[in-house]
Amino acid sequence: MTGPLPSFFDIPRDELTALVASWDFRSVHAARLWAYVYNSGAARYADMPELPARFRARLETEISLVLPRVAAETHSADGFTRKYLLALGDDRRIETVLMRFTGRVTACISSQAGCAMDCVFCATGQMGFARQLTPGEIVAQVIHIDRVLRPPAAGHRSLGDPRNPSPHARRERLRNVVLMGMGEPLHNYEAVMRAVDILRDQNGPAISARRITLSTVGVIPGIVRLADEARPIHLAVSLHAATQAERAALVPVAARWPLDALLEACCYYVKKQQRRIFFEWALIAGRNDTPEQAHAVGRLLHGLSAQVNLIPLNPTTGYDGVPSDRAAARHFQEILAEYDLPSTVRQRRGLDIAAGCGQLATASR
Ligand code: SAH
Repeated sequence: MTGPLPSFFDIPRDELTALVASWDFRSVHAARLWAYVYNSGAARYADMPELPARFRARLETEISLVLPRVAAETHSADGFTRKYLLALGDDRRIETVLMRFTGRVTACISSQAGCAMDCVFCATGQMGFARQLTPGEIVAQVIHIDRVLRPPAAGHRSLGDPRNPSPHARRERLRNVVLMGMGEPLHNYEAVMRAVDILRDQNGPAISARRITLSTVGVIPGIVRLADEARPIHLAVSLHAATQAERAALVPVAARWPLDALLEACCYYVKKQQRRIFFEWALIAGRNDTPEQAHAVGRLLHGLSAQVNLIPLNPTTGYDGVPSDRAAARHFQEILAEYDLPSTVRQRRGLDIAAGCGQLATASR
């Protein structure tokens, strides 16, 4: 018995070109195929009339265009957030979220099925680790969101036809990607970076590296590697506490990658990449939202080119913390400002549809 075909979304453009050449087809056909999938949104070889029939027949036997199946879907009441539970080839479930903020559309994608990091307040952490995602499974999430926004026209299309010509539709183009779904991206480094490079391809998904943000729990070797490589994506580090003891209580892997070494790696990243770094802070009432904590963050990060993103806690069944109120969040921000630290409070989007980290997967089990 043969296994499933390799996925189209796993293959970078240069490898596709080489593969097509190895089958004795001209490279222009590889370029057209690439454009059909990523620009026209063609979902079947039968919808690619500008490819020779013999080439399409070969593709049918070699490469799969199948995207993950939508196993569940929820839309927020305000219409700004849509959450998808996607079923992979082996029926594992991952979450992908479409978020609309003023003037921009962002896809929040997963890097692993489950997560091994065990952060106490995180629904994905509470469910444990299942497996790594392949590059194609990471890319496919972005393509899923793109096709939700710009549905491919049914039937045969020529490559020159724009996918949706109305000005409104053009505004709705997906331009931002955050690796903030399920999983720890730096615990799946190779696959994530291969996916990022496919997403950045100018003739493909064309998501600018500067519009891709990777969020890490603080995997130090991954941060150092990211600093050393020429891939200008943004980095966000989940801080959540300003002392080693308090952080280790929320983020158990802090025992392995302690706060002082983490901060050193962050400084190295900022220096090497000449880029601001983001820190995430889940605001938990009475736990890490006090003025003392805010001053501690200020002292810790003062002088570093950084921004703090405050996220009021999304309550999860496995953790009894509650989110901070607006006044506490505002006061926290004011204190950070005294240390010249810019900050944002994450808009609480999608709470009515269980769009916080791992919550849809938990709810549908
Ligand atoms: N593994 C990565 C990505 C996780 S999800 C990381 O740890 O950064 C993105 C962010 O959401 C992280 O900062 C994570 O700590 C935070 N998060 C997870 N569960 C949350 C919850 N219930 N409420 C608020 N923030 C949460």
